[in-house]
Amino acid sequence: MKGMKLFQTIQIRLIIIYVLLILIAMQLIGVYFVRTMERSFIDNFSSSLQTQAGLLAELIDMDQYTGTGEPPEGSEQDEGKKSIESLNSIVSSLFDISAAEIQIIDANGIMLSTSLKSNESNVGQKNLRSEVISALQGIKDNESELVDSTGERKKVVAQPISNGTKVNGAVYIEASMEPLYKTMNGINKIFLTGTIFALVLTAALGVILSNTITNPIKEITRQATAMAEGNFNQVVRVKGPDEIGQLGNAFNYMTDRLKEALALNEEEKEKLASILSNMNDGVIATDDRGKVIVINRRARQMLRIGNSEVRNQEIWEVLGMPREAVESHVHGQQQMALVHIGEDEEEEPVTIRIMFTPIYRRDKGTAVGTIAVLQDVTEQEKLEQARREFVANVSHELRTPLTTIRSYLEALDDGAVGDPVLAHRFIGVTRNETERMIRLVNDLLHLSRLDSRKAQMAKVRTHVPDMLEEVADRFSFQLQQKQIRITIDVDREIGEVKLDRDQIDQVLDNLVSNAIKYTPEGGSIQIYSKKLDGDWMEFRVQDNGIGIPKKDLARIFDRFYRVDKARSRSMGGTGLGLSIAREIVKAHGGTITLDSEFNRGTQVVFTLPLLKWEGEAV
Ligand code: ADP
Repeated sequence: MKGMKLFQTIQIRLIIIYVLLILIAMQLIGVYFVRTMERSFIDNFSSSLQTQAGLLAELIDMDQYTGTGEPPEGSEQDEGKKSIESLNSIVSSLFDISAAEIQIIDANGIMLSTSLKSNESNVGQKNLRSEVISALQGIKDNESELVDSTGERKKVVAQPISNGTKVNGAVYIEASMEPLYKTMNGINKIFLTGTIFALVLTAALGVILSNTITNPIKEITRQATAMAEGNFNQVVRVKGPDEIGQLGNAFNYMTDRLKEALALNEEEKEKLASILSNMNDGVIATDDRGKVIVINRRARQMLRIGNSEVRNQEIWEVLGMPREAVESHVHGQQQMALVHIGEDEEEEPVTIRIMFTPIYRRDKGTAVGTIAVLQDVTEQEKLEQARREFVANVSHELRTPLTTIRSYLEALDDGAVGDPVLAHRFIGVTRNETERMIRLVNDLLHLSRLDSRKAQMAKVRTHVPDMLEEVADRFSFQLQQKQIRITIDVDREIGEVKLDRDQIDQVLDNLVSNAIKYTPEGGSIQIYSKKLDGDWMEFRVQDNGIGIPKKDLARIFDRFYRVDKARSRSMGGTGLGLSIAREIVKAHGGTITLDSEFNRGTQVVFTLPLLKWEGEAV
């Protein structure tokens, strides 16, 4: 496997290509060169043998040697013998061809002489080789190759000897070709060594040259891997203007562009994330299957899901709505829904308005998801509710006295007017009810002025102890009637201050009147006033009356809120006294709190800024 991998590298492939090219080239050259040389050697060798055989054939006059078979006379016989010997000497000395055997053959094919000593025993025997037979038939340049019993390769040539008219013998040469083949082998070896040397050199050069191609590619690969891992700070070194250099330049350019694009993308993402997280509205985005892909901090807060992972959850699950309802809001006409969160939890429930907007793909027009925008409308809902309640309360508060008045007027009309005592009582009731209505309308007008900030502040010089005394004086009749004791205790530090006397009188009147109303006979009321840290003063109206149950404390300052409606009304209360007091204190920048224990008593504390009267020590 590893070997296979090695072959998959460009470097190895290039080296193999180089080596194969050189090998093929050398082989082609070698085969052609060696073959041509071998042929030329052999041809030269043959032609030189033929030439020599031809020369010998020219030189030898066979007529001198023929007749050896006949029984000649003494002298002739001696001459013939001489002739054979001279022939032998010619054969062995004149054409001394190394490792070659020269035979002179007569017209009958009988060997007359041989240059090879070891073959002399065969003199007189017939040479039956086809070349000899052809030569004796007058054919020139006979030749062939043979391999003898020892495995030696030999060249055989035969030339006819003629006396001008007829062929009377042949020269036969058998020469070893081994030296020739040895030379050839030597040349082959040189060629082989050269080839191996060239291959090694090519392989080495291949490594170096292929490195110049593969190294930049490897570097670009490394860079691409680093980029894939998010590192865009590396640069490919460009070494030249060639194709790889151009690739490197293009790659570096691409890296820069990608870096820019990613940075831009990141910036956009951050912007979007910061917009989403700082938005006052909650945002939830889903994919085409309705699974949550984005949810911002505000949406988490509103839905009270903290940091729990909701991505990939269905939006209807996250919103706590039925799936069909969400689908009908997304695709239907009515894209708005109201949900109430935390109704069964301890925390105050919130009302959320959700706007569903499907997102469509620009090109195809198919929905790719939904955006749900969440708005906390709890306050709005509360206000709306309060307004509804207020209208209902006002109508109710007015209807009761009006109904009473109408019934009394009807009774008068029906004849009661004739009875002076009854008529007087009935008129008294209607007057009371009318006064209550006037009080109610006055209170409402007062509240409305305070709400619309139209009530002008008229700060006047006020002596606080005197102001409190006057409040007590105003209620002296009721106090006396109910035998309620009142004590006033003012901090010495508080003397003359600047405040809106009429408004503060109104607050004190409301509080003291409540204290009297809700304290049984024989009870007691205390009014305190003291200086607080900083320039603030505190007023406290305390009674030991019927008190207020805990559950009602939270809403006690609400308009028309009364603990016991029937009793309050019978006492002439409108349910607006505490709200008016709170609005006035608020308008002065102070705070008002009510603390009460059922059946034990109530205390209302309010603070006001302490503004010294010019020139007066406080
Ligand atoms: P009302 O005109 O009915 O007195 P307020 O706004 O002044 O209206 O008071 C609202 C309700 O608060 C009263 O109906 C009464 O039930 C309760 N309340 C106010 N002051 C006292 C108090 N000092 N002791 C007991 N209950 C009080």
